[in-house]
Amino acid sequence: MQLMPPLIRPEHIQEKLHIDLSVIVPVYNEQKVIRTFHHALCKVIAQMHNERIEVIYINDGSSDKSWEMIQALTCPFANIVRLNLSRNFGKEAAMTAGIDHANGKATVLLDADLQDPPELLPDMLKVLRNGYDVVNMKRRQRFGESFFKKFCAKQYYRLFKSLSDGQIETGVGDFRMLSERIVNHIKKMPERSRYMKGLMSWPGFKQTTLHFDRPQRVAGLSKWSFLQLIGLALSGITAFSVKPLKLATFAGALLSIFAFIYAIWVFTKTMLFGEAVAGYPTLLLIQLFLGGVQLIAIGIVGEYVGRIFLEAKARPVYLLMDSESSVANSHSRVN
Ligand code: UDP
Ligand code: MG
Repeated sequence: MQLMPPLIRPEHIQEKLHIDLSVIVPVYNEQKVIRTFHHALCKVIAQMHNERIEVIYINDGSSDKSWEMIQALTCPFANIVRLNLSRNFGKEAAMTAGIDHANGKATVLLDADLQDPPELLPDMLKVLRNGYDVVNMKRRQRFGESFFKKFCAKQYYRLFKSLSDGQIETGVGDFRMLSERIVNHIKKMPERSRYMKGLMSWPGFKQTTLHFDRPQRVAGLSKWSFLQLIGLALSGITAFSVKPLKLATFAGALLSIFAFIYAIWVFTKTMLFGEAVAGYPTLLLIQLFLGGVQLIAIGIVGEYVGRIFLEAKARPVYLLMDSESSVANSHSRVN
């Protein structure tokens, strides 16, 4: 029998095996900010000179020059991995692509608009190394967001927390640092509707929370319309809780009891006073009310059936069109 010669690993694969921190950056139409962001990030990375860092940019089907700009970005102190998705799959899918390609002992998710300050990375890493698996970054202040958006976000977090038995923390977005074992668990989660805030909280382990003031976006506009935010909110709730279904059952039961009591009252009244055909408006109101409640209940069931349909098709969460990487100059010097 002939023995196979040992495989010689290319240098960049060896580099990948010793990464201390993976920085994941989803990018969608960010040509106005991506360079500024990268310079700010690279400056912070330069100060963390003892760490081996990889930055994973995921171009989420941008229609502007973001991908060309990402291809041109370099940082002498970090490996740069560039992933180009085949179309816009949404931020959750882009972050999933990043997590799938992360090799670090720690992984952090950053928005490309500098709303998640890279300057906080060294502190987050220090806290994570004190024995934590997740460092959540809670927003103390949210600058540059309307009162309405902040109000809706607060109410949504509250609702989600009560529906999902407190699995996610109020005011914590996607800006978190995760340990390798949490990332490995997330990589293995098979679901397609990926509500990352939920997925990152679900494994539990040792979590801690730091506070920060969330600055305004440096340039460009938020990519989320109000309707998209509602979609994300619904997807989060249906992916993490079946309580709305129970709520529909509960409302049905409550209304049946109410209808039964009302029937007894109408019957007694007619028997005692012999009332004739009056009550047309009451009838109409009750009809409309019940019709509304039934439609809401069907809608809730429909949301879940829709999710089952999407999960059953088992299509990939994202498709990669291109990927490129470059290795840091400094990594060969650092142990
Ligand atoms: N993003 C993405 N795909 C999308 C929408 C957004 O990758 O379909 C990225 C975007 O480029 C940014 C991050 O997700 O890096 C956060 O987006 P944005 O700033 O628009 O969200 P906001 O801060 O307003 O919640
Ligand atoms: Mg933003």
